[in-house]
Amino acid sequence: MARYTGPVCKLCRREGAKLFLKGARCSSNKCSFEKRGYAPGQHGRMRRFKKSEYAIQLREKQKVKRTYGLLEQQFRIYFKKAEKASGITGENLIKMLEFRLDNIVHRLGLASSRSQARQLIRHRHVMVNERLVDVPSYQVKAGDLIRIRPKSRQLEMIHNSMKKVRDGKLVPWLSLDKAKMEGAILEVPSRDQIPVNVNENLIVELYSK
Ligand code: SF4
Repeated sequence: MARYTGPVCKLCRREGAKLFLKGARCSSNKCSFEKRGYAPGQHGRMRRFKKSEYAIQLREKQKVKRTYGLLEQQFRIYFKKAEKASGITGENLIKMLEFRLDNIVHRLGLASSRSQARQLIRHRHVMVNERLVDVPSYQVKAGDLIRIRPKSRQLEMIHNSMKKVRDGKLVPWLSLDKAKMEGAILEVPSRDQIPVNVNENLIVELYSK
């Protein structure tokens, strides 16, 4: 599956927000956004003009897309599915993205970023229930058990990431057993239990034009 391979810190600067795409570096003083919080490019510092309604909606869509590491085509497919599902389109969209396996592996702290989670999954280190799954976009569901394959439990990358998981910092709809390197999805979260700072209604407005 195609993916963005350019410099990721530029994406945060472009969106004017920290998207937490680089794991531990994002919470350190090495974060580029903390040092240069203006848009990239020659005229980045000067882009202070009033944004049009379209520009605001577009930026919100880009923010979600980049947070979850999707390309345009993949994002559109998610949006279409969200529209067809019953309920509120914007909320459906965010919930579907949250229930991607790579996102859950990252939220559990088994990987320090979504891109690292994708790597772990593609390299066949992750199991869902009793089955190996190597598709990062795999949709998990409430009740699923996510675990690191027994053979892979020595991987330094996973241990380093898990060291940073602080007790009580996990979202309330996930549980983690650090010793077993496995986590469970307890329930489908409500929108306010998903810590993604975007206004998904703007994306719905953008696509309804
Ligand atoms: Fe964004 Fe993380 Fe880079 Fe900071 S370090 S600019 S939060 S990706």
